[in-house]
Amino acid sequence: MELAHRMTALTGDGSDGWDVFYKARALKKQGHPIIELTIGEHDIRTHMDILAAMGRSARGGHTGYAAVPGTEGLRAAVARRIEAQTGVPTTVESILITPGGQSALFAAHMAVLNPGDVALYCDPYYATYPGTLRGTGALDRAIPCDPAHDFQPRTADLEAAAKGARSLLVNSPNNPTGVVYDRATWQAIAKTCITHDLWLISDEVYDTQVWQGEHISPRSLPDMQERTLVIGSMSKSHAMTGSRIGWICGPVPVIEYLTNFATHTTYGVPGFIQDAAEFALSQGQELEDEVAAPFRRRRRIALDLLTQQNLVRAVPCSGAMYLMLDMRATGLSGEAFAHALLDAHQIAVMPGESFGQAAAGHIRVAMTVADDQFSEALAVLLSFAAEICENKRRF
Ligand code: PMP
Repeated sequence: MELAHRMTALTGDGSDGWDVFYKARALKKQGHPIIELTIGEHDIRTHMDILAAMGRSARGGHTGYAAVPGTEGLRAAVARRIEAQTGVPTTVESILITPGGQSALFAAHMAVLNPGDVALYCDPYYATYPGTLRGTGALDRAIPCDPAHDFQPRTADLEAAAKGARSLLVNSPNNPTGVVYDRATWQAIAKTCITHDLWLISDEVYDTQVWQGEHISPRSLPDMQERTLVIGSMSKSHAMTGSRIGWICGPVPVIEYLTNFATHTTYGVPGFIQDAAEFALSQGQELEDEVAAPFRRRRRIALDLLTQQNLVRAVPCSGAMYLMLDMRATGLSGEAFAHALLDAHQIAVMPGESFGQAAAGHIRVAMTVADDQFSEALAVLLSFAAEICENKRRF
């Protein structure tokens, strides 16, 4: 029996640069002491107080179907947080609670794309983006973002891609680059969206992880509110990856349609998870800062190590839990370097190529192990790169 093309063509069937990740996982399973600096998951678990709130809610009976758009309490808490962060008046009705940011990304694109429409996204990209766009039946079109411009999209590239497109997906703070878009980039994005009448999907799941500069939500820019859907999540901000809880914030009529879509797909999010999320948000920025603190520390450690050498350039790591390193001085592709590093030193990193062609020759290092181990692994990585360069020079 033949499956739908939509399913089978969701992702390419090449390795997509994920070989090194699977190799590291297999070696670890065999008992090898692999240091994994690969995926974006905290090395801490969800705070016990959040789990206590989850337990209280479940034991209190909140285990039945919850309201499809989300509980009043959580929607209001999310609306308040967004309003406080951006200054944009935000009502409960403009929030839909979703099972994580990933399903929010898919639903948001389902709301704005017809089959065959062109959907834009920036390369390098978070691994699921092309598949998410293709899943809606749209044609995915990448906008290459140059490492020389710190992987921020430029006006000319936005303009060149926008003709005939219907939506643009952006992500700042960015995974995989760790870059926080500056105001000029946001202005270029807004101008392109307005000129070409594009929907903007703004993935802001790393909004609590800003180390330098400021997080700007494009929904707050002039004339952008009506065409912007913001994607949020508790995964990164509160170390709640397994709870699967996020949201979409957008114009009320769009949220009404999306609520109808949720009725026919997810049927909402468990009430006890939502109550736990509401409790977590009620703890305010203090808890968010606590969850973000290890990455802030490790970024500092990384910058100190990187300034002691001049072979490997770090793309400015202004936010998120990743460090994008330019390995082109070694003469190796990101993929070849990542394999060599794993084979020689049992350290696993992601090749830039797994996030698109724009990041070729780079590697992404997730700052997701304890400070000592992180510092040691990064020092080994840098001296390994120096060794490769030295050998290259000699032969
Ligand atoms: N967007 C980006 C950029 C991400 O890195 C992730 C998770 N790694 C997500 C969305 C999805 O997060 P979740 O579904 O856990 O909320």
